[in-house]
Amino acid sequence: MAETARSPGASERRPVTALRGVGAALAERLRRLGIEQVQDLLFVLPVRYDDRTTLSRIGELAPGMRTLVQGEIQLTETVYRRRRQLLTRLSDGSGFLTLRFFHFSAAQQEGLARGMRLRCFGEVRRGPQGLEMVHPEYRRVTDQSQAVEDTLTPLYPLTEGVTQGRLRMLIDQALRELDTAGVRDWLPRELIDSLALPPLRDALRYVHRPPKDARLEVLSAGRHPAQRRLAFEELLAHHASLRLLKQAARTDLAPALEDEAGLAARLVASLPFQLTGAQARALAEVEADLRSLVPMVRLVQGDVGCGKTVVAAIAAARAAGSGRQAALMAPTELLAEQHWRSFREWLEPLGLPVALLSGTQPARARRSVLETVASGEVRLVVGTHALFQEGIEFADLALVIVDEQHRFGVQQRLRLQEKGRKLGRFPHQLIMTATPIPRTLAMTAYADLDISVIDELPPGRTPVQTVVLPQQRRDQVVARVDQACRAGRQVYWVCPLIEESEELRSQAAEETAAALAAALPDVDVGLVHGRMPSAKKDEAMLAFKAGRIQLLVATTVIEVGVDVPNATLMVIENAERMGLAQLHQLRGRVGRGAQASTCVLLYRAPLSQLARERLEVVRRTNDGFEIARRDLELRGAGELLGTRQTGLAQLRVADLIRDADLLPRVQEAAQMLIERHPDIIAALSARWIAGGEQYGRVG
Ligand code: ADP
Ligand code: MG
Repeated sequence: MAETARSPGASERRPVTALRGVGAALAERLRRLGIEQVQDLLFVLPVRYDDRTTLSRIGELAPGMRTLVQGEIQLTETVYRRRRQLLTRLSDGSGFLTLRFFHFSAAQQEGLARGMRLRCFGEVRRGPQGLEMVHPEYRRVTDQSQAVEDTLTPLYPLTEGVTQGRLRMLIDQALRELDTAGVRDWLPRELIDSLALPPLRDALRYVHRPPKDARLEVLSAGRHPAQRRLAFEELLAHHASLRLLKQAARTDLAPALEDEAGLAARLVASLPFQLTGAQARALAEVEADLRSLVPMVRLVQGDVGCGKTVVAAIAAARAAGSGRQAALMAPTELLAEQHWRSFREWLEPLGLPVALLSGTQPARARRSVLETVASGEVRLVVGTHALFQEGIEFADLALVIVDEQHRFGVQQRLRLQEKGRKLGRFPHQLIMTATPIPRTLAMTAYADLDISVIDELPPGRTPVQTVVLPQQRRDQVVARVDQACRAGRQVYWVCPLIEESEELRSQAAEETAAALAAALPDVDVGLVHGRMPSAKKDEAMLAFKAGRIQLLVATTVIEVGVDVPNATLMVIENAERMGLAQLHQLRGRVGRGAQASTCVLLYRAPLSQLARERLEVVRRTNDGFEIARRDLELRGAGELLGTRQTGLAQLRVADLIRDADLLPRVQEAAQMLIERHPDIIAALSARWIAGGEQYGRVG
């Protein structure tokens, strides 16, 4: 029977426990991954694919290949190099391959006996004794002719507690039932036809189980029509939901912040500098919103260093001057503390205390901050997103400032709104981001926000000079680091992205730090990487900020927005592998003081024509918007990068930049749904946005 329009998605609600092999324990683990319904499983989409459909000959392997090999064990031994490791030498008659394990059990070691035949899958790397695989998947085979896979193997994201194999089995079941149960194609037929994209079921089957002859490079680049079909639907779900959210927000009431005490004007007058024209414009837009009864939801977008924080501080002063409270949320402890310092410097002279909520604070101190905030004694409070999510009570919260929007996605925005609604009162929201995205993209990704742009840097900055050098000139670069440190300056060294796992990346960073420390005996070298506990990371960052560390070696985890004006040199390894926006963001860590700064982009030769052009864009311009525009053009020109730009919104398949050509149609389709089928928007949100069921509820 056809579903009625009034109950969208009703038949889609089949709990995962309906599948064979899913008991209470597994259901609970799946629930933690956000998978409750059978259809949720189908929308966990592969992040990449492996080709296990053919065996490679060991003699024909090359670094970087991810492939299946089979051979006989020649030797297994434990060696001690820096750390204990297990090495197994495999041969198939055409050559040798080393398997390297850092974590292994005694049983595992015994299981890898000489003479045994193994089939392994992993990434081929260059090792000290020729080619190797680190922690390959492997299993024993007894017979050469055992079957290989007949479809490409999907790799799913974020499956903590559920193995890839288990997930594949469950998804297989869900796929087999696709025709009889479950997933409905919500998009009107004419729309799909006009886009020349496949129906939902075909698309799902294809992306989960691509046939053997599927073109891996098209899939990796996310350009297959099946992926485009899903991307379109996802973008539509987000965009339409955000537009509904905006409509709904307009019906709520916020306090009009008149600033009777005149604190905002006093702050502006007391600043040691004059606002740039662009800051003044953005501020005027913010202030007009704050004076109205409609809750502001405004994004202030501006390149690194353009001075967004002071605009936020003036808005906060306006809230305080109206007798109400403002809160600033930062993505990390370190940034929270940095903002707290700036706010104190500007606002305390006006008689406004600023509280800091920190995760490292002793419980008592924290409790007393919470009390002063709850009583209204303190009007301004700074902390991390996480801290604000832990149920803090405000006496009269009128303004929420969120720094670095790209870590603050749709879900968080939704949650914040819900919170305001529960209090019966709606705070204004000011969101700051340095992610420069072109206008059409912004209109889709931030459809619920009004946007102000600060497109001018404060005067007196010396633009960062960027040079592009091949890896072979690393020695010269190291000499330059030495020079800078001798001159009393500080340096960032950003490590390569080439490693697959965070584990290997962190290890590479450790090795780089050790090598640099050896090459530069007079320099104090520090390290931050993704495997360090966050307290350790903060400790290293603070030491760098305080000047106790001169050279900071880091993976790309280094904080957005950290301000160390004395850092004047940044070296980025394997720059050719990074997104242009990311390079630009990283580079924004230098050039923050009066001293001239340099950014060295190291690349590994040979460089493709396109890679050369991309680095050239970053070398030539310091304008984040220009870089984003050129990035779009160059990627649009067909570079198969295969990476999703996840920063902007929490998207699963779509990539705002790669799929930019879909956006005009997404906007049209959203308009059509809002006018004619708002119920479909609810069903799409429930499918695509975690916690998105709530979007459907309008007003
Ligand atoms: P971002 O936009 O990257 O967050 P910040 O707000 O951290 O930038 O500002 C960078 C630096 O510029 C800060 O030290 C800030 O005090 C300073 N600054 C901000 N506005 C101006 C201005 N109009 N003139 C001079 N310096 C400014
Ligand atoms: Mg900032």
